Amino acid sequence: MNFPIRKSEAEWQEILRSKGAEPVALQVTRHAATERPFTGKYEAHWADGSYHCICCGSKLFDSDTKFDAGCGWPSFAQAIPGAIHEVVDHSHGMVRTETVCAQCGAHLGHVFEDGPAPTGLRYCMNSASLDFEPDAS
Ligand SMILES: [Zn+2]
Repeated sequence: MNFPIRKSEAEWQEILRSKGAEPVALQVTRHAATERPFTGKYEAHWADGSYHCICCGSKLFDSDTKFDAGCGWPSFAQAIPGAIHEVVDHSHGMVRTETVCAQCGAHLGHVFEDGPAPTGLRYCMNSASLDFEPDAS
């Protein structure tokens, strides 16, 4: 998969630093690490607005699709159409569906089929991969 936005590791590091990203953001987004549960700043964050890729700023989720899955990571029932690219992930002896930013390939988390109706999906995201923008109003 070739993503439209490509940068070197040093360039991403500089972008993340300039945005005040969490210290684990580079390892999560560029090396598919997972932050520890219940540690992310958006895990229990319920303001109105939208969630964007911390790396490239692409809009990924609206806050009204966020729900409390109790799993320790920010969870969403629906993504912005076309914003997320799915990859089959065989790591850790499991078969899961990894989610990456369709624009820059940043690792976001995984999507599971145990979410609420109507989508039945649970996008289990790393807080460190996300950047929240409050509604303008
Ligand atoms: Zn991105």
